[in-house]
Amino acid sequence: MDSSNHSIQRASAYNPWQAAMQVFDNAADFLQLEDGVRNRAKYPERELTVNFPAKLRDGRIRIFTGYRVQHNTARGPAKGGIRYHPNVSLDEVRALASWMTWKCAVVGIPFGGGKGGVICNPKEMNELELENMTRRFASELVGFIGPDRDIPAPDVYTNAQTMAWIMDTYSMNKGHSVPGVVTGKPIAIGGSKGRNEATGRGCVYVIVEAAKHLNLNLNGATAVVQGFGNAGSIAAKLLAAEHGVKIIAVNDSSGSAYNKNGLDLPALAAYKEKTGKVKGFPGSDDIGEENLLALPCDVLVPAALENAITAHNAAKVNTRIVAEAANGPTTPEADKILFEKGIMILPDILANAGGVTVSYFEWVQDNYSFFWKEKDVNENLREVMVSSFSEVWQTAQKLKVDMRRAAYVTAVSRVAEAIRVRGIYP
Ligand code: NAD
Repeated sequence: MDSSNHSIQRASAYNPWQAAMQVFDNAADFLQLEDGVRNRAKYPERELTVNFPAKLRDGRIRIFTGYRVQHNTARGPAKGGIRYHPNVSLDEVRALASWMTWKCAVVGIPFGGGKGGVICNPKEMNELELENMTRRFASELVGFIGPDRDIPAPDVYTNAQTMAWIMDTYSMNKGHSVPGVVTGKPIAIGGSKGRNEATGRGCVYVIVEAAKHLNLNLNGATAVVQGFGNAGSIAAKLLAAEHGVKIIAVNDSSGSAYNKNGLDLPALAAYKEKTGKVKGFPGSDDIGEENLLALPCDVLVPAALENAITAHNAAKVNTRIVAEAANGPTTPEADKILFEKGIMILPDILANAGGVTVSYFEWVQDNYSFFWKEKDVNENLREVMVSSFSEVWQTAQKLKVDMRRAAYVTAVSRVAEAIRVRGIYP
């Protein structure tokens, strides 16, 4: 079965919002949260659905459906990416928005959680169609987002160019430039150095910390990366170049590249850039996604979509660390199986928080109109990731729970505290 059919089949049986609520409830039970605060923290504050028109290349008009969900703003403005994918749904956006709430809280940055998405197939759209759709979606969001309200960023199949279109459309509506309305934008219009690499880099910082605790020498260790986009390709590149990790397999939506002796990452990145896929990379085999996830390795980095490691395949996962660069790649059922196998999970809300952390740095730089050197961005990112890992690790040891539960207990208690001290208006 090819991986695109596989993901469609998986998507129909699985509801990410139900999975997200289950993990939240676990932490809320543990914290014995009172009902009012619990429900305020659990359910989204605001949800916007828009059906909007955009012109296609042949002049026809197509109606797209887009969502923006602000899950919780007790700790600051909503923050989170915008995804373009055929399987986007309101429940997926709700889940992604809630994960942003917990992520910002666990790394202690002053944002709440939000997320957006448009149901579309960007692979079948040209640049003009993507721009038309993005600008009209941004126009629909003008009253909903803003630098003090809700700040979008890139996610799956959106990038710095998408953010530039949103920033420009929002600014035209306001009558002046508003760089802080989005993050992950190009450097030329107020983007931050280091933002493009931040998710993968942050993920590597926590892998390095986890390896120390497991006495795992990364130099010569092996890793498998599922998803070779922004998060996955950068994590793979840095693991190999800066820590001597052998990347033995990667995949993307088109197939996989496996070489038991390790892949040449710069050559693979160039091949993907040229052909748009990793499959067919000279000297590699296409082994299928299920085989890839079951390869014996020291570090497995799921960096594609939700619902990758499930009750169906978790028993076959053969690694020491699962570092969740993707959001929601492990289902709650699979979580238990991995834990029982003694695998350390670096949960998404910690492992991929590097992206939103540097987004926060970008927003700070925009507000000050004063821009940092890349080495300062990376050093500040390292400090946030290492200290957040340490807090979650210590909580896990103290409470004798796994890293996901420890991260959630930390995050949910911070959000609950913010809700309590703010009180209920009016
Ligand atoms: P991207 O669009 O740059 O890359 C997505 C990659 O996943 C592509 O290579 C695509 O081919 C691949 N893919 C899609 N379906 C797949 C499948 N079934 N099997 C294998 N590969 C598949 O997106 P990204 O920004 O790298 O996002 C990837 C994940 O990381 C998402 O879960 C996203 O929410 C999460 N994330 C991204 C950021 C960020 O800053 N970009 C931050 C935090 C979390």
